[in-house]
Amino acid sequence: MKDKISVLYTEEEVNARIKELGEEISRDYAGRSVHLVGILKGATFFTCELAKRITVPVTLDFMSVSSYGNSTESSGVVKINKDLDEPIEGLDVLVVEDIVDTGNTLSYLLDNLGKRGSASVKLCALLNKPERRLKDVNVDYTGFIIPDAFVVGYGLDYAQKYRNLPYIGIIE
Ligand code: 5GP
Repeated sequence: MKDKISVLYTEEEVNARIKELGEEISRDYAGRSVHLVGILKGATFFTCELAKRITVPVTLDFMSVSSYGNSTESSGVVKINKDLDEPIEGLDVLVVEDIVDTGNTLSYLLDNLGKRGSASVKLCALLNKPERRLKDVNVDYTGFIIPDAFVVGYGLDYAQKYRNLPYIGIIE
């Protein structure tokens, strides 16, 4: 059966917001470089689009994590499937994530990255669902605050589908 998806943010709205985030990050990191750490796979589209909108020097790395649990609920126990390729010692790290939901994944990840001797670790999330939060996570840059709904597109999947939608939608 075909899933019915309603548009939450159009491609134009998402790209316009990412451009604004890029400008804000460029101002905040003026005179420095920023080391983007994109979280696979959901944040790949967002990481690439954001990187193009940042005007200070950018380096990139990716990490893959999964949380034990079923596909729609995270458990709080996080496993690193692919670690960073390069050390982050002395770098200004900006973690780029698709969505902060319960906060379980990011709470673990920020804690883990915070122990690796970087100059700073900040977080940029395209989407933020504060209503669902179980663990306190400081989101330094937020694209959109959204209600408690399951969203897809722009990197976000439902059973690995819909990551390639250029907009953000809600499965009805
Ligand atoms: P958290 O640990 O904050 O609960 O969950 C983070 C991860 O759960 C995200 O990186 C994402 O993979 C997944 N997730 C949470 N909410 C949604 C959603 O609405 N749609 C999709 N596709 N994934 C979600």
